Amino acid sequence: MTDSTDLIDTHCHLTFPEFAGKVSATLVAAQVAGVRGAITISTSTSNARECLALAKQHASLWCSAGVHPLYSDEPCDWSALEEVGSDPKCVAWGELGLDRFHAQPTFEQQLTVLHAQLEELERLQAKGLSKPIILHCRDAFDQLIPILRATSLPRDRFVFHCFTADSTAMRALLDFGAMASFTGVLTYKNAKATQEAALLPPLDRMMVETDAPFLSPEPHRLERPNAPRLVVHVADQLARLRGIEPLAMRAQLAANCKRFFGI
Ligand SMILES: [Zn+2]
Repeated sequence: MTDSTDLIDTHCHLTFPEFAGKVSATLVAAQVAGVRGAITISTSTSNARECLALAKQHASLWCSAGVHPLYSDEPCDWSALEEVGSDPKCVAWGELGLDRFHAQPTFEQQLTVLHAQLEELERLQAKGLSKPIILHCRDAFDQLIPILRATSLPRDRFVFHCFTADSTAMRALLDFGAMASFTGVLTYKNAKATQEAALLPPLDRMMVETDAPFLSPEPHRLERPNAPRLVVHVADQLARLRGIEPLAMRAQLAANCKRFFGI
């Protein structure tokens, strides 16, 4: 049984080795905790195929297709996007974007893959295959947003995943027209600037995720790996920060996910 307050973990990586042989148990544990499903996110074109294969094995799992900026130096087969994206279990493109926090792959390599990927998504959009787009943006809002603005991809179909920046970056994101998605970082004591930024978005422009296996939320910060069932703690923290009843916040986040991803 699911109800309107049941969340989806909108961003996790269940193809990573931490979850090998444990995906069914992970999804059952999520459902027990009021998390009715998860989206497993692609990091490369070969991983996109693995994500789809996994999603097809589990009723409560969906996937994305795309190349993560930190995987820009891996072999890339763009035909995987159309192939994986044509399946109803694939509900988004990404994660794609720019990452200036890590020095490798080089920013040049990341830019080359980003431009090629956005072109491919525009080509697929022109063929009638369009999806919401999950962005990975670390220390690169000033570079990424103008690149996105220059495309024909609709702004309200972008989400900046794992938002850990400050109010200035949040204002730029909201002005652009995208959604913001929060992880366990929002629960960390040292994340004051991100907590302040979380006060800014209209309630219908926010989502929550775990980014599992990384970034376990408080009060489970030392638990490894992070897992979809723990996304409730991100939602509850957002409710606290915004002064909203936890169940009302979950219902809002579930409705946002349904509107954005169609699940
Ligand atoms: Zn991710």
